[in-house]
Amino acid sequence: MAGNITFSIIKPYAAKMGLIGPILALINEAGFKISAIKSEKLTFEQAEEFYNIHKSKPFYNDLVEFMSSGPIVAMILKKENAVEDFRELIGNTDPSKAEKGTIREKFADSLQKNAVHGSDCDENAIIESDFFFAKKERF
Ligand code: ADP
Ligand code: MG
Repeated sequence: MAGNITFSIIKPYAAKMGLIGPILALINEAGFKISAIKSEKLTFEQAEEFYNIHKSKPFYNDLVEFMSSGPIVAMILKKENAVEDFRELIGNTDPSKAEKGTIREKFADSLQKNAVHGSDCDENAIIESDFFFAKKERF
C-alpha cells in the first residue's frame, strides 16, 4: 500500500532566488499538507550523507557542494499516495524534460539546480524525514 508521506527539499539556488513562496504555493494547491518544515544550511558532511546513494556517480561531489552552498527548506508532506504524486508534481530530474506546469519546469535553473528534491519511494521518504526531523517537530 502506498504511504502517505514524502520528504522534500527546496534546494539552495531556488531558495536564494526567492522561489520558496511560489514553490510552497504549488505544493499547497496540489493538495499536500505540510507536516514539518524548517530552513537550515547543510554542512558538506551532512549533504554527503543525505546523497550517499549517489556516491559513485560522476556528479556526486558537485551535487554535495551545491546542496551545502546555502540555506535550504526541508519538509515532510502528507497526502494519499504522497511519493508518486509529488514526483509527478515536480517533474523530470532534467528540467528540459519536465512536463509543463511542473515545479522543475517552472523553477529549475539546470539539471543540478533543479529547484526541489522529492523522495523516490516510501522507504526513502521515512529515512529522509528521520534525517531532518525529530518527532516533536512533526504535526
Ligand atoms: P531526482 O532528484 O529526480 O530523484 P536523482 O536522485 O537521480 O534525481 O539525482 C539527485 C540529484 O542529483 C538531482 O536532483 C540533481 O540535482 C542531481 N543530478 C542528477 N543527475 C545529474 C547529472 N547528470 N548531472 C548533474 N547533476 C545531476
Ligand atoms: Mg532521487
